Formats: sequence, C-alpha cells, structure tokens
Amino acid sequence: MKTSVIGYPRIGKDRELKFASEKFFAGEIDEAALQAVAKQIRKEDLLKQKEAGITYISSNDFSFYDNVLDTAFLFNVIPQRYKDLGLSELETYFALARGYQGEKGNVKALAMKKWFNTNYHYLVPEIDDDTEIRLVGTKPVDEYKEARDLGVDTKVAVVGPFTFLKLAKFTGAKKIADVSGKLTEEYVKLVSVLTSKGADLIEFDEPYLVRDLDASDIELFKNIYASILANKNGAKILLQTYFGDIRDIYAEVIKLDFDLIGIDFVEGRKSLELVKSYGFPSDKALVAGLVNGKNIWRNDYKKTLSALKEIGVENVVLGTSCSLLHVPYTLDNETKLSDDYKKHFAFAEEKLTELAELASIAGTDYEGSEVYKKNQSLFEGRVNSEDKEVQAKVAAITDADYVRLPVFEEREKIQKQILNLPLFPTTTIGSFPQTSDVRKNRQEFKKGIKSREEYVEFNKKKIAECIKLQEEIGLDVIVHGEFERNDMVEYFGEHLNGYLFTEKAWVQSYGTRNVKPPIIWGDVSRREAITVEWSKFAKSCTNKPVKGMLTGPVTILNWSFPREDISIKESILQIALAIRDEVLDLEANGINIIQIDEAALREKLPLRKSDWYSEYLDFAIPAFRLVHSKVKPETQIHTHMCYSEFTDIIPAIDAMDADVITFEASRSDLQILDSLKENNFKTEVGPGVYDIHSPRVPSVEEIVAALTKMREKIEDSKLWVNPDCGLKTRGNEETVKSLTNLVAAAKQIRG
Ligand code: GLN
Ligand code: ZN
Repeated sequence: MKTSVIGYPRIGKDRELKFASEKFFAGEIDEAALQAVAKQIRKEDLLKQKEAGITYISSNDFSFYDNVLDTAFLFNVIPQRYKDLGLSELETYFALARGYQGEKGNVKALAMKKWFNTNYHYLVPEIDDDTEIRLVGTKPVDEYKEARDLGVDTKVAVVGPFTFLKLAKFTGAKKIADVSGKLTEEYVKLVSVLTSKGADLIEFDEPYLVRDLDASDIELFKNIYASILANKNGAKILLQTYFGDIRDIYAEVIKLDFDLIGIDFVEGRKSLELVKSYGFPSDKALVAGLVNGKNIWRNDYKKTLSALKEIGVENVVLGTSCSLLHVPYTLDNETKLSDDYKKHFAFAEEKLTELAELASIAGTDYEGSEVYKKNQSLFEGRVNSEDKEVQAKVAAITDADYVRLPVFEEREKIQKQILNLPLFPTTTIGSFPQTSDVRKNRQEFKKGIKSREEYVEFNKKKIAECIKLQEEIGLDVIVHGEFERNDMVEYFGEHLNGYLFTEKAWVQSYGTRNVKPPIIWGDVSRREAITVEWSKFAKSCTNKPVKGMLTGPVTILNWSFPREDISIKESILQIALAIRDEVLDLEANGINIIQIDEAALREKLPLRKSDWYSEYLDFAIPAFRLVHSKVKPETQIHTHMCYSEFTDIIPAIDAMDADVITFEASRSDLQILDSLKENNFKTEVGPGVYDIHSPRVPSVEEIVAALTKMREKIEDSKLWVNPDCGLKTRGNEETVKSLTNLVAAAKQIRG
C-alpha cells in the first residue's frame, strides 16, 4: 500500500529555524545564513521521510512563518503599505508577518488567526481593490527542484485557492466573486510552471471544505477547479482535506476530475459514512487519513486496519489525518521519559514508521505478523492511570456548583466600591518580558544548579522590580509578571497529578513561537498550592491591587495532548476542580482580583456550527463557571482570550459569568465591539489597545484613537485599558515605552 504525508514539521528538530530567524531579526546573521539553516531543515525532513519509505512526500510544506502568508506572497497579495517600505523580499515577507518599525517606516502586521481547530496561527491575507493578483513567486518550484536534487521526487503542496479566498479579508469594495477568476488563472499558471519543471503530482490543500458550506461556496469551488482540472498539463492533482469530513461537498467532489482525494478519517466523523453511501470512483485514489496528525498516542493497528477494510476502496493510499506540523519531531529527543511511557507515543518521526508498518501489512493476513503483535501488546490492559477519588469528585458535581451568586450586576456594584479603581482602569495580561536572566534562573533551578532558595529569591527580586516598574508607569491593577512560568499550561501541568512532560516536544504555534504541550496521562488533581506563594509576595510589595494569574481548565486541556480513553468533558472537569482549589486558596490569601486565562477557549470549537453547543460549549462554559462559582462577591474574576473571533459566540462568553474579560482586538478590526453592544454584553471588557505580537511601540495618539472608537460601543464604566496579550515575548525597552503610552492614553481620555 502506498503512503502519504500531508506535511512535516519545519521548525527543525532542535528549533533551529526559531533561533536562526530570531538572530536574523536582531541583525546578527544575514539572509544567506538564515536561508542555509532553512535549507538544511528541509533536507533533513525530506530525507527522513524518504528513508521511512513514504510514497508521497510534500515539498513546499516548509515556511519561514506561515503557508497562507507564503501563498499570499506567491500571488502578489501584498498590501501597498508593505511594498512602500522598500525592503528586500524576505524582509517584506517578515514585515507582513510581524509588522515593521524602523528607518523605512512604521506598519502593523497582518491579522493572525487560529488555523481551523488547532493552536497554529495563519496570517490573514488582505485583498483590497488595488490588489493585483499575479503569480510572482517561485517558492513551490524552487522547493520542488531542491527536493529533486536531493533525490526526493515530491508532490508539491500548496494552499488551495478556495481555502485561500475563504480565509482572506476583503478590505475594499471587491468580494470573492470579483477576484476568484483571476486567482484561478494564476493557479493554472502555477500548475503549468510546476509541470514544466517536471512536477507530476500537485496537492491542493483545501481544509475549508470541512466547514459548513452553502450553495455559493460549492459553486465557487466547482468553478475554480473546473479551470484547474481542465489545465492539468499532465500532472495528477490531489485534493487534500483535513480537520473533519466534507459532508457538504463530498458528492460533488467525487464527480470532479481529481486524481486523488485526501479525506480525514480521524476527525471526520462522517467520512466513512460518506464513502459508504456515495461510493468512491474507481478511477481515483483515496488518501485515507488514518494516522492522527494532531495527537501523540500510538496508532492502534487493529482499528486502522479494520477501518481500511471497512472503507473498502480498492485504490487506497494510507495517509496522515492532517499535516504532522501539529506534532513534535521525534521521541529520540526525549531522554528523561521512561520507555514505559514512550512506547505509547508517536511523534512525527514515529508516525512515519507507523505509516510504513501499516502499509506493509495491510491487505495481508496480518494478525500473525510480528509488527502487528508488537503493536497490539501496547493496548493490552489499561494504558492511562486512574484516580478513584478524582472520579468520585467529578461524579458529585451538582448544578449548583456551576452557578456563582449573587448575580453579576450586584457583584459589579460591590466590586466597584471595594476596589475603587479610576475610570478606564489600566492593567496588563500577566506576563512581563521573559528576558534571558529569567529563563536562565528557571533552567538552572531545573537542572539542580540553583537551590530552591536561590531560585525563589531571584524570582522575588524580579517580582519586586516588576511591581515597582508598574507603579512608576502608573498602572492601576498590578501583576507579578509570571517569571516562574515557562508556559501558561506546562507550568500548571507540572503542579498537577496526571501530567507527563517532554524536553523537546516543540510544536509551532505562530512564526518563531513554539509551544511544548504537556501530555495528560491520567486522572488530574492538584497536588499543592501552585501560584499562591508568588501572588502573596507580590501583594506584600505594593498597596495597589494585585491580580492573581491562573490558566483556566479549557485552555489547559486544549493546549495539552489529551487522553483519548476518556471524554474531553471528563478531563476538563477534572482540571476545573483542581484550578478551583487554587482560586479559593488565592482568595483566602487576600488576592481579590483573579484572572483565569482561557486563551484557547475557542480552539476546540467544532468547525461546524451545528455542533458548537452540543459537542463543546455546553460543557466548556460550565467548566469555567465551576472554577470560580465559590468565590465571594467582592472577588473580581477576570478572564482573557486571544485571537478569539468570538463575535459569534458572545452569549456563551457572557455565560462564563466572569466580571471582566480582556481580549485581542488590535490586530483585527473592532467589529467585535458592535456584537458586544448588540448582545448587551454584561461583562466588563478590555479589548487590547495594542498588538504585543510585534515589537512595534504604539503611540499615545494611536491608543487614544482606539479607545475613542471603543467608547462608542462600550459604556465608560465597563471599559478597561490593556495590551492584547501577555508581554513575555517582548523586550524590556519596548514594553516600558508601550505601557507608558498606554497609561498616558488612559489619562488623556479620563481628562
Ligand atoms: N497570562 C498569560 C500571559 O500574560 C496569558 C497568555 C496568553 O493569553 N496567551 O502570558
Ligand atoms: Zn492572550
């Protein structure tokens, strides 16, 4: 059986791309040096897949920042303000990704959003009325040739035109229908250029097909591909979908002249049913995504092989469910995790082995084979560990546990009186710059070079400095700075039972930012107080209110590799009970503002609207309420969300029943404010007034302008002033300048 991999991780086994890019940004290395690192990563990735015997390996799955941005760049979808900077090509690319502030100008980055239901972020292409869509780039061709020179004959993977258009933002009068024809023509040109260089298989990634589609979407898709498929130029075309099933268009898609169609059988709940009821044409190959590209548990060969039988398609290729970009590189990097655990995991490299092994025994009398028996031995008996006490606590949760009293309006009055904050209170989202000394302190403590006392002493010094700085800047609600945290989820996981950790299992989140999701191995409970010591100390340093800082249960789950033997709901409730203990401990220690971050609340929102409540929100929102329902009325509960696009789930967000919510708003337009108003949003709000994902310093005028717009939609008494996310990835200098401007802007408005 043939095998196919949609995409491979591209950050480098040891995050080489991150480090090289950051050096390039800092001007420490030149473009040639950065390109050399990138080339080496591509080479290793390709050869790894070739060695594993994968049939269809992708080229052009590499990216310096993001594949959607690459596609925009490829077709000249570059807003004029970036071109006007007059930078080199690569610098222009990074200006779109990260913004630019320097001698040549001052421009914000493009908006960034979560890639479907993952924690990977893409840059939102911007199409205005002057956009001249034209094939100007050569990346797919270059990377195809580069691979061929290495002896790897690849399929060339590109983001498909339908998904590209559906994800793009139209800022002028033009709409999709005005540009789709031209974009299609340019894709046709791309196919022709690729085939002229010898490429004989081109993969169009169209994950947008797993969302709800209406008749006009289906029409658009058919029109686009009618042209592309009529101009194949001898190449074979693979339509690749992932992150769900394509129920709205399956029947149409199989009638089109694709040579291969890739379907996700892991997340696609209806995929099997679709193939069964509509059949699958014998002149095409079905790429069956059965090896999970998102989670890290070993594939159960019994299940996969019987799924293949059930699918029953003759011409079938075994594939990953999505790009392996969403899992870490290799278990070889893990030196501390015992084999008893490791044998249950498969990262990208191990997934290649799974694909190869499965392909070698599929269609044979596999039950007696060594490969099969060895795999099945992993699934004999219980894998994940259990804790009866936790299970009993979850079972004992009652409806009253999900309700906080008194109601919001009454709490709001009480809190205003007690906290006595000025109008437009200023605050930050929690973390302050994680400078090298901060990281070094943590690392030395972990390695045993520093004693606990030394480690704590250093952090306390940092907290005291950070608080002094915030007082000087004039912020109203103070944070301790989160210097003890490597990551907002891993840190909590480390203090909870039921978690496992890796050393180098990095996964790209956006650009050079990678995350290392911990693994939920068993039932979760809190072992000890987690943040109380730091918050108590912070409180002792100032007379201003100090905000305690926690991560919420939904985010902890969404940013971990979850168990698959119990439901997501069950796991979230276990975590919620653990975090609830922490909330109550903070309150008992005099912390009367507590922020419970739900940065990732939206991430696992089903891609189809009809599933939103029943499959997710109906337990995720109550789980958040469970965490804070037992606090006193005077304790103010904040929450925070990133890249939230929650315009369409505003009632659910309000139902979290927090007292204040801060969220990202600076990089997207302020549309969300209209929705807040329309929905009579009761919770107080702090829409971020500037973008922290870029080093750019916002001016006072800019922040005043943002606040002025916000005031049109939000009552003054409900508006908070804050950056759009934590500051840990920023440098000290830009942070001080930005926050100083933020406070000045708030004061100006108050005046
Ligand atoms: N409190 C966290 C911080 O400031 C929130 C981070 C996030 O939302 N991603 O770092
Ligand atoms: Zn955030």
